[in-house]
Amino acid sequence: QVEVNSLYKVFGKDPQTALTKLKRGDGRASLDANQTAAVIDASFQVRRGEIFVVMGLSGSGKSTLIRMLNGLVEPTDGWVNIGGEKITGIPERQLRTIRERKVSMVFQNFGLLPHRSVIDNVAYGLEIQKVSPAERRRRAGEVIEMVGLAGWEHSMPSELSGGMQQRVGIARALATDTEVLLMDEAFSALDPLIRREMQEQLLELQGRLGKTIIFITHDLNEAMFLGERIAVMRDGRIVQIGTPEKILTDPANDYVAQFVADVD
Ligand code: ATP
Ligand code: MG
Repeated sequence: QVEVNSLYKVFGKDPQTALTKLKRGDGRASLDANQTAAVIDASFQVRRGEIFVVMGLSGSGKSTLIRMLNGLVEPTDGWVNIGGEKITGIPERQLRTIRERKVSMVFQNFGLLPHRSVIDNVAYGLEIQKVSPAERRRRAGEVIEMVGLAGWEHSMPSELSGGMQQRVGIARALATDTEVLLMDEAFSALDPLIRREMQEQLLELQGRLGKTIIFITHDLNEAMFLGERIAVMRDGRIVQIGTPEKILTDPANDYVAQFVADVD
């Protein structure tokens, strides 16, 4: 359902020259000081209905990678296919319609609209999808309840704690009912109890709705709990893809071994 082929993203001046160096195998160290290779040669496929976790330390390129999956960041090279449709190298208008229909995203920094109430934030994606007002209210109410924010519908984001704002972002992504859900550190602002509850709810929801979920985290235990397969990222590259068990028992290299050494 989601196909990622040899994606590169270089930030900074003259990305093409940097790309040539990277493809030649010169490595990140060969780039100029003003160039950052955030993602290098990332390839993978995610099956319909799968939960695919991308795990890695801060700065390893997770957010950049996931942002290329919905066209928020344009790759320097490579392509992305969502449900058989290419979303890279297409006009912005076409990209927008595909994104509205197929992909929703929970942002690391919540990405809420500050001047809209909770319910209007949650209904925002539905508005774009041109869902009728009555249906918008019904679906928004349903997911607000699901994430435990019933009673807060008419509050403004600034009146909520970080964890609550994160749940609004999750509710907004769930409301639109797209096949693919991208979640960038979606639970990181939640306290441990609510976090585990949201993880369980996500698995339950995923089982029920069969969504394809790409979930980013730097938390090893969260990755192990949620992932059917886990991709480990290091310095822009995916160094291993495998089931949690495979990654624990058969790490591809010392880096992964060290990374998973302290799983609970
Ligand atoms: P974190 O866990 O802290 O969220 P991450 O794995 O999501 O980190 P990215 O945000 O993808 O990492 O960043 C990867 C690298 O790309 C970093 O070195 C970052 O500074 C750089 N980078 C990301 N976005 C940009 C940008 N818009 N312009 C320039 N450099 C960027
Ligand atoms: Mg990030």
